[in-house]
Amino acid sequence: LVVFAGESKPQAQAIASDSKVAKAGTGKKRVVVLGTGWGGMSFLKNLDSTLYDVSIVAPRNYFVFTPLLPSVTSGSVEARSIIEPVRRIVRSKGKQVQFHEAECIKIDAANKTVVCRDVSQMGPSDKKEFALQYDYLVVAVGATTNTFDTKGVLEYCHFLKEVYDAEKIKKSILTCFESASLPHVKEEVRKKLLSFVIVGGGPTGVEFAAELHDFIHDDLLNLYPHLHNDVKITLVQSGDHILNTYDERISKYAEQKFTREGIHVNTGCRVLGVQAGAIDFKIKSTGQLVNLPYGMIVWSTGIGTRPVIADFMSQIEQNDRRVLATDEWLRIKNCEGTFGIGDCASIEQRRVVEDVSYLFQLADKTNSGRLTIEEFVEVMEQVRQRYPQINIYMERQHMRGVLELLADAIKDGRQASIQLDIDHFKQAISKVDSQMKSMPATAQVAAQQGEYLAHCFNHMTAEVASHMAPEGPMRIRGKGRHRFQPFQYQHLGQFAPLGGEKAAYELPGDWVSIGRSTQWLWYSVYASKQVSWRTRTLVVFDWTKRMFFGRDSSR
Ligand code: FAD
Ligand code: MG
Ligand code: MG
Ligand code: MG
Ligand code: MG
Repeated sequence: LVVFAGESKPQAQAIASDSKVAKAGTGKKRVVVLGTGWGGMSFLKNLDSTLYDVSIVAPRNYFVFTPLLPSVTSGSVEARSIIEPVRRIVRSKGKQVQFHEAECIKIDAANKTVVCRDVSQMGPSDKKEFALQYDYLVVAVGATTNTFDTKGVLEYCHFLKEVYDAEKIKKSILTCFESASLPHVKEEVRKKLLSFVIVGGGPTGVEFAAELHDFIHDDLLNLYPHLHNDVKITLVQSGDHILNTYDERISKYAEQKFTREGIHVNTGCRVLGVQAGAIDFKIKSTGQLVNLPYGMIVWSTGIGTRPVIADFMSQIEQNDRRVLATDEWLRIKNCEGTFGIGDCASIEQRRVVEDVSYLFQLADKTNSGRLTIEEFVEVMEQVRQRYPQINIYMERQHMRGVLELLADAIKDGRQASIQLDIDHFKQAISKVDSQMKSMPATAQVAAQQGEYLAHCFNHMTAEVASHMAPEGPMRIRGKGRHRFQPFQYQHLGQFAPLGGEKAAYELPGDWVSIGRSTQWLWYSVYASKQVSWRTRTLVVFDWTKRMFFGRDSSR
């Protein structure tokens, strides 16, 4: 199975075919999983590993509970408490899989092979690379942070993606405080050192800003009281509001809370570039240019593409995309036998309008050219199942919007008082299309996709794999047990911790809760979601420790 890049080709082929013979004995298909994050681990935990020959490849041998990563930057939670070794997870779930700590550097779609590189910096330097062959490939490598090609970002900004990023940020904050306390430092330099800038007003940027504020005001200023007047936290956001994917009430509350606490919130700004010690941005509404000195800067804006994925996309004619396109069954488009889950992939938004005449025919059982309300409601139910991304909207609105439009249409076409012709039907459908949203890049989505895909793998037999979805736009609910429903995302709501023991929580269906009790809900939900009793204990212990003794402020 393992082919070393250093070996000559025939030899490599011999090894490859040897392993084929060996595998022929077990008769099991080879599944290679790339990534040990939310998507990859959820897939693995739910997969019946006795059915396949499973290998997993990732450059880190542990899983990270990312929602608590911002807490690591301030020491509210220790880095060790939110990671769990892959080998432990695998063993505790009784899975038979092989783990390789390596980075996938190339997906060779034509030969169904992934080329991996040992990242350990140990071992023989001439045999750093090896190849794995797969029958099925699950790509769950996550994403990088999008720099939008802004000058200086890679050189000068911190990112917040991995555990070591969070630890570096914490060290950097403390370095700024110590440097600013040295006797020879002039006021101007001191102010610069204690100017903390966060670019990006999404959930990660906002949560980090809140953590930073609490760290400084609850802990550091008690230890560095002489620096009280020099600290400044600035949040730079390109959109008009922070947390703009959340309910308006939450985003307003967050802005007001931050402003009250002295966090400078700059919305509607375009970053022009970052230099050592200063960031340039433009306030879009006034055109004013700002040069803001910083001691530390964190860049947290959206999803970027990993090089290995960019290369893979160019092989399978998915150029000019940020993430891999999959269908509703999570199969990567134009590449048989591969599946994409989590932040590195997204389900191709198929517009319902494209199928409008087909849908109309399907609904119009009497062939009258018009639909009754019953027929319409029935076909909408099928639409809901066929186009899973509509679900979020449909659940929220309970089809209200669509039915209102239906009522309008009926009012217009007076002679057909309770019926709908194809033009009105199209109008209703395009209203649905306009509400279609892509799934967010969250742990919630990645974990649900991993679980869904594992269940498909557990139930599919070899020959079904390549035709999981029947052709034709609407033949969704095949009768056989090998037919799968498309992936449906269940949105369970989202938290936004805002600091000062306050959090906001948005539930599906227009519910919002904000405040102290929500923070306690946050504690309990995040404790319960830990991957093991070990990390759960550690996290709860860290929180308790912080409440009694404050955060640790040593580097
Ligand atoms: P990841 O979890 O990022 O995993 C990617 C895996 O692929 C890693 O194991 C990585 O080592 C591996 N990998 C990378 N490159 C390669 C390669 N070349 N070859 C092989 N393996 C590779 N979501 C929420 O729902 N709620 C939250 O509160 C929340 N908070 C967040 C806070 C922070 C600070 C961050 C950064 C993210 C947060 N998210 C949250 C988002 C969530 O973490 C991601 O959506 C989720 O991790 C995506 O899962 P994934 O499996 O696609 O990628
Ligand atoms: Mg993953
Ligand atoms: Mg992860
Ligand atoms: Mg993020
Ligand atoms: Mg995705």
